[in-house]
Amino acid sequence: MTPIDHFERVMAVLNGKKPDRIPCIPQITYTTAQLTGVGLVEALHSPEKTAEALLAGQRELGYDAIYVGWESSFNLLAEAMGCRMRFPEDSVPQVAEHVIKSPSDLDQLTIPDPQSSGRLPLHMKLLELIKDSVEGQVPLFAYSPGPFTLAGQLCGINDLMRATILDPQFVRDITEITMEASKAYALANVSMGVNVIVTADPTASGSLISSKTFESFAAPHLTAITKAVQKAGAFASLHICGNTNSILDSMAATGVSVLELDHLVNLIEAKKKVGNKVILMGNLNPAELLLTGTPKDVEEASRSCIKAVGADGRYILSSGCEIPPQAPLENIRAMVTATKKYGQFT
Ligand SMILES: [Zn+2]
Repeated sequence: MTPIDHFERVMAVLNGKKPDRIPCIPQITYTTAQLTGVGLVEALHSPEKTAEALLAGQRELGYDAIYVGWESSFNLLAEAMGCRMRFPEDSVPQVAEHVIKSPSDLDQLTIPDPQSSGRLPLHMKLLELIKDSVEGQVPLFAYSPGPFTLAGQLCGINDLMRATILDPQFVRDITEITMEASKAYALANVSMGVNVIVTADPTASGSLISSKTFESFAAPHLTAITKAVQKAGAFASLHICGNTNSILDSMAATGVSVLELDHLVNLIEAKKKVGNKVILMGNLNPAELLLTGTPKDVEEASRSCIKAVGADGRYILSSGCEIPPQAPLENIRAMVTATKKYGQFT
């Protein structure tokens, strides 16, 4: 039997067909710096060094797709939309000053141009480098900010939360703009060869807002972005961290192909609720298992996930969220090993 390649395997799952085995796609970006020795901050300024690390990670550990990126897309976009950033010496940039201080500031916001605003051109260059190396062989995933989360970066999460009760019109107005910004960014990623746009909306988590707030302010925009991404010929995935049990139905109703679930979600329950609509992806504990566990622990936990929800092939083994930079690479390798041992269909 000819070994099926990464691209074919992942595309089979995304297109609703049974793959040769369960794909393994850990949410790994800057953890791959361990392989090339590039500094976490150094890579921020060098698409070449970032590409080298991301490509080495996939090549040496053997997982089935590359998350093309290094820092949070919502910080990248927040900077491009005018937030002042702090650049720590040993970490990725964070918002230091919000650009929206009152509702009247919304008039100043413009939709960033991925080719010229802020550091977005560096991300575009990174996409080009990765695409040139592995296009058609390894599927490319890329994060794009959820409009609710990006709004929180622009005006402050606490102010955004308060406004959902005291000034809902402001939330509608700001998320309308952030939806357009996210959509433009997502489509620019698709035009550079990204196969799966992962909209990351951690501030819209069931751990932070009610299902009613999610329905009102987050879901409609996520649906709009999903439609635009699909129309452009790519697949859409939705990544919301924390406990999302209360919003699983609404997440699936956005029309995405994949739900990326965090370790606080019970996979079997999620499968019962939305498994007929979406492909589930997740959900190994990034800190307590992948950072501090042993390869044996990881292999065993991966086996449990595959056994729990992998039987019909509509499942991708992954971490519940972004893998910490210091996680031992042997633990990532153990995830790949587990899909080979326990996730075979042919
Ligand atoms: Zn997450």
